[in-house]
Amino acid sequence: MPMSQEHPSPISRTRSAQLFEQAKAVFPGGVSSPVRAFKSVNGPPLFIVKGDGCRITDADGNTFVDFCGSWGPLILGHNHPVVREAILEAVHNGTSFGAPSLPELELGELIAGNNRFVEKIRFVSSGTEAVMSAIRLARGVTGKSKLIKFEGCYHGHVDSLMVKAGSGLITLGVSTSAGIPDALAKETIVLPLNNASLVQETLERHGHEIAAIIIEPIPANNGLLLQHAYFLETLRRLADRYQTLLIFDEVISGFRVGFEGAAGYFNIRPDIVTYGKIIGGGMPVGAYGASKELMGHVAPDGPVYQAGTLSGNPVAMAAGLAALKELLQPGFYEALEEKTKRFTGAIETHCKEKGYPVRFPHIGSIFWISFARSPIRAAEEIDPGGMDYFKALHQALLNRKVYLGPSGYEVGFVSAAHTPEDLDWAARAFCEGLDDVFLVD
Ligand SMILES: *Cc1c(COP(=O)(O)O)cnc(C)c1O
Repeated sequence: MPMSQEHPSPISRTRSAQLFEQAKAVFPGGVSSPVRAFKSVNGPPLFIVKGDGCRITDADGNTFVDFCGSWGPLILGHNHPVVREAILEAVHNGTSFGAPSLPELELGELIAGNNRFVEKIRFVSSGTEAVMSAIRLARGVTGKSKLIKFEGCYHGHVDSLMVKAGSGLITLGVSTSAGIPDALAKETIVLPLNNASLVQETLERHGHEIAAIIIEPIPANNGLLLQHAYFLETLRRLADRYQTLLIFDEVISGFRVGFEGAAGYFNIRPDIVTYGKIIGGGMPVGAYGASKELMGHVAPDGPVYQAGTLSGNPVAMAAGLAALKELLQPGFYEALEEKTKRFTGAIETHCKEKGYPVRFPHIGSIFWISFARSPIRAAEEIDPGGMDYFKALHQALLNRKVYLGPSGYEVGFVSAAHTPEDLDWAARAFCEGLDDVFLVD
């Protein structure tokens, strides 16, 4: 029996390498968003010229089965015909009016009508903006200013959330980015995930000054740190007891694990919920929503100011509307989850047989490759040494024409466009790639 399949030759990256050199002259790090620079994996980033279904093609003509999905938005796959047609139709009427428009109304009604946790919604243009606005709303409503966030949860590059715990467990935030005033970082208390008693202790001491607890209910930006439902239920209970608001940052999980996101998946009501990624059907859209009463505090109805020149952009709204209608088709999420399970299951079985220290945590159509033998539920449990394995795997997979986001801390996404055949093929590539990583040193 062959120990591992033949080693494919490295893909050509000549054109991408040239373009990246050019890009470095005009963009910091050659990119418009840092992880795209391929700093944690080998080689220059690939310049993508086309996406279709579950595949993307780079400037050197290599075509890959893609599990990055533009970092999550493309749950229907690339260039979905229904979304594309909706965009083209909208464009015919002009690209922006700065006035109310029909696709915006229709998308708002579609979401509010199919989501128990959103009575009113406000559209913005990115996930970061959604979170920023949700926090302002929480502060405006409660009259308090501090936040509790969890280590390993990412909420966009919002000033007061670019913080991480110091040495102690309950510490005031220390910024992880230059350019954030201490005064702002100190408004954030960072706690580890999966530790309900610490949240309780913190609220006992600081509850009177805490405006909101913000969490990714399915933490998926620093590995996939699946939480027990009990932990999330405790947050709900404690938020009520200490009169603080619970914000679910569902920029990744919203419309991904179900139309009602993680809130629906766990059946836990957040006070405010934020969306991004999928909600725009591949166009730049974010949103925050809540009860009528809470949203009544938002301008022009209330005193919490928040605005946007391109908010509710008709072309972006048309894309989101077309995409979200597809997600409401009966059985959509069940089929997607089934495919994902079969895919991760095939790789897991292989790893078990070979004794590799690898796990594939997954939920809905989100998966993560964890180089560890036991489940990981908090950021500090991730062994940074595993990232060397990831780097080797990333390269092995590129050579086998499988594209993953270029960091071992990022999750992968299965889309509706991945057929069972694509996934079987990709699972084989993963198994071979892992053989390369673990058997051939
Ligand atoms: C991606 C993401 C954000 C930031 O969204 P942008 O559109 O990149 O600003 C915020 N929160 C979560 C949970 C995310 O996954």
